[in-house]
Amino acid sequence: MVVRGSDILQRASRLTPVRSSDHFDVVVAGGGASGLMAAVSAARLGARVAVVESSGCFGGTGTTGMVAQWLGFYNGETCAVGGLPMEFAERVIARGGSKGFENYVLAEATARPLHLKRLPFNPEIAKLVADELVLESGVSALVHARISGARREGDRVSAVQVETSGGRLEVEASCVVDASGDAVVARHAGAPMKGPAPGEQRMGMSLVFRLSHVDVARFRALTRQEKRAIALEGIAGGELFWDVLSVSPVGQSDAICLMSHLDGLDSLDPNDLTKAEFIGRYQVGRIYAFLKRRMPGFATCELAGIASHIGVRESVRLVGDYWLTEQDVIEATPFADSIALGCGPLDVHEEDGKLRLLMPSQPFEIPVRTMTCAQVKNLLVTGRAISASREANGAIRHQATAMALGQAAGHLAAHAADFEWDLRSVPPKIIQDGLAAARALPSRAHLSAATAAG
Ligand SMILES: Cc1cc2nc3c(=O)[nH]c(=O)nc-3n(C[C@H](O)[C@H](O)[C@H](O)COP(=O)(O)OP(=O)(O)OC[C@H]3O[C@@H](n4cnc5c(N)ncnc54)[C@H](O)[C@@H]3O)c2cc1C
Repeated sequence: MVVRGSDILQRASRLTPVRSSDHFDVVVAGGGASGLMAAVSAARLGARVAVVESSGCFGGTGTTGMVAQWLGFYNGETCAVGGLPMEFAERVIARGGSKGFENYVLAEATARPLHLKRLPFNPEIAKLVADELVLESGVSALVHARISGARREGDRVSAVQVETSGGRLEVEASCVVDASGDAVVARHAGAPMKGPAPGEQRMGMSLVFRLSHVDVARFRALTRQEKRAIALEGIAGGELFWDVLSVSPVGQSDAICLMSHLDGLDSLDPNDLTKAEFIGRYQVGRIYAFLKRRMPGFATCELAGIASHIGVRESVRLVGDYWLTEQDVIEATPFADSIALGCGPLDVHEEDGKLRLLMPSQPFEIPVRTMTCAQVKNLLVTGRAISASREANGAIRHQATAMALGQAAGHLAAHAADFEWDLRSVPPKIIQDGLAAARALPSRAHLSAATAAG
């Protein structure tokens, strides 16, 4: 069901409030790529759901981080993610927020570019569509509400603590889906975690910005060698900080630029994160001036916006019932409990900003056990922080994959009531059948046919 206009206003005014001591079947921590899908899919299946989001809107890194190109829908010509993520994408396209999928050369100005399919989109339109999805599905929502703790009782998490400008709330849950990217509930509930130790290598952060009055076609017409020469010149002059000149077109003449890059800071350390935002904005100022002066197509550009949150690629991950590895990604290991397909690319950022980019030869399977752990039976971790090695994380963290995982998490959470909220007891077949019926999880046979036809 799609509601529009005044319906949206009515639904917003009737939004079920989330108050202290309220009890929900499912509380979703974070309404980003994965959490939005988890909340909406669980609510569509009849669960009583609340989503708690620290920023003012939904969509996560794709909206507040302005990372405005969806990767992970396609592996080559094979579409491996359907269901609710594809519905989201189609609704953004229908609203004029994107022209649709296109062939693209990722990291074109670097030494190792990669050909793939992407969907560039306007993050502001994605915010509108995300609101519609939330309101239509009947999810209860809190924004500007930051989860700061979890109440653990035995092997369960029974409530989350939420900081708001009106004070602290404690919201009770039969089951929690942690879609915060930083595993905030999992950490507070004492689930086993892994991340880079202090001083160890971690993937760099990037602050994305939007320019208006850009002749994107002129920029795109440059050869790879021309782009690379200008990138290296900018780096040598201290005006560019990375050789990736990523540009996503928006509308007639706007360009969303993913060009900043900073290493060595830990996003979970509040002082490091603060430094990162300052350094990120300094970089944006330098890059903007350089592009305007030097890059064909950018002479008349204006700085139209800077993402409200720096993009974080790596913080911590769950050590769950299964640890997904690079080998699983590359060899497409089959799993009896697979609940989502990743497409890649495997995209690992080394300390000096160098990229290791690799497209798996086929979509790879992600088992439900990457979202669960023995220590906290009613907790799921979805999205960027699932149980995976650093390299495998580089392949599963793209937004379409995060969304596919989120839809699967929503299905699992919605069925958990029948299994006393022990998520590890829910037979994967129930989830797989539900996802297949929602056109979310193509079968292997379906994929083989699609690849053969493609
Ligand atoms: C710089 C950069 C470039 C990238 N490039 C691409 C790309 O080109 N294409 C692509 O598809 N993917 C890209 N990615 C990857 C992708 O954007 C993320 O990995 C993906 O968004 C992860 O989804 P998620 O749902 O796990 O997290 P997010 O989308 O980040 O969502 C997490 C949500 O949780 C909220 N949250 C966090 N903490 C709390 C808390 N304590 N309480 C309440 N809410 C909280 C956040 O505000 C956010 O809304 C990029 C990532 C980065 C950082």
